[in-house]
Amino acid sequence: MKNLILKALELEALLPDGATLPLLAQVDEDWCIGCIRCIKACPVDAILGAPRQMHVVLQGECIGCEHCVSACPVDCIAMLPRADSPVPGANMARWRYQARNQRLHREQEARRLRRGKMESGTNSVAARQAAVAAALARVRGRRLDQRRSSRGGTKL
Ligand code: SF4
Ligand code: SF4
Repeated sequence: MKNLILKALELEALLPDGATLPLLAQVDEDWCIGCIRCIKACPVDAILGAPRQMHVVLQGECIGCEHCVSACPVDCIAMLPRADSPVPGANMARWRYQARNQRLHREQEARRLRRGKMESGTNSVAARQAAVAAALARVRGRRLDQRRSSRGGTKL
């Protein structure tokens, strides 16, 4: 990360007075705990990583919104001047935002379906248990009837 800062500072020194380079999120890999909170916060899916693994920012996709910074519990994301990768265009950012929303929707649907299956599974278990209990009650009832009738038969 240090090299990037130096590079960005060098580039910024070449800019006209008052102009700044657009910002880009950078993950400090020494501190990342792989909690995936930044992934959930990023509106354009510009962060890659898996649970308990180091996360990285896709430089060409980051729009510099800083949402990931406040989401990180260990403060290991910094916003640095964008040294040499181009800022993604508005159309690309919009497309990635929409694609992310569709992905979230698909995941939500899949979770809903899984929950539904689990609930119907629970219902069928409950139905089977009720059927077994009813069958047992019928058998016990028949045995009781048989015993009663056999006692009555002995008396006669
Ligand atoms: S700054 Fe915004 S676009 Fe860039 S990685 Fe963080 S949340 Fe994503
Ligand atoms: S929020 Fe921070 S610690 Fe968690 S995965 Fe992202 S960069 Fe790593």
